Amino acid sequence: MHTTADRLVEALRRDGFRITRARRAVCEVIARAHQDHLTAGDIHALVGDDVIDLSTVYRTMEALEQASAVTHTHMGHGPSVYHLAAGAPHQHLVCSRCGVTIDLDPAGIESLLAEITRRTGFVPDPSHFALSGLCRDCIARS
Ligand SMILES: [Zn+2]
Ligand SMILES: [Zn+2]
Ligand SMILES: [Zn+2]
Repeated sequence: MHTTADRLVEALRRDGFRITRARRAVCEVIARAHQDHLTAGDIHALVGDDVIDLSTVYRTMEALEQASAVTHTHMGHGPSVYHLAAGAPHQHLVCSRCGVTIDLDPAGIESLLAEITRRTGFVPDPSHFALSGLCRDCIARS
C-alpha cells in the first residue's frame, strides 16, 4: 500500500524529475495537508528553511503540476494555493473583506456552468479561480 507521498514522488519520477530529499519532503507535506489550502510559502515553512529554499518549493510545485499530481487555485490577491489533483473537486468562495474561504460542492454551480456553455460554447474551469464576494458575517456587520 503506497502512501500519497509515495504516489507524488512516483509521479515526479515518471515525468523524469530527479528525486531529491527536498522534493520528497515537499511531497510528504502536501500528502499530509491533503485538502488544506497551502501556499508555496506555507509548504516552505512546513518543510523547513534548512531543507529547502522557497524557489525550490516553487519549482517542485511546477513539476508536480506538470505531472498532473497537484493543481493550483487563485483565492484572491495573495499567492495561489495547492490541492492534490486526486482530491474532491470543490468551488472556492472567498470573502473580499475578511478573507474567509468556503468550499462549495461543485454540484451547486453546475446549472450556471451549463448555462455559460449553452450561451457561448465556452467551457469554464471554475476550480482555477475562487469566486469573490462577501460572506454572511461581513454582510451582517455592514
Ligand atoms: Zn480547496
Ligand atoms: Zn467576510
Ligand atoms: Zn493559475
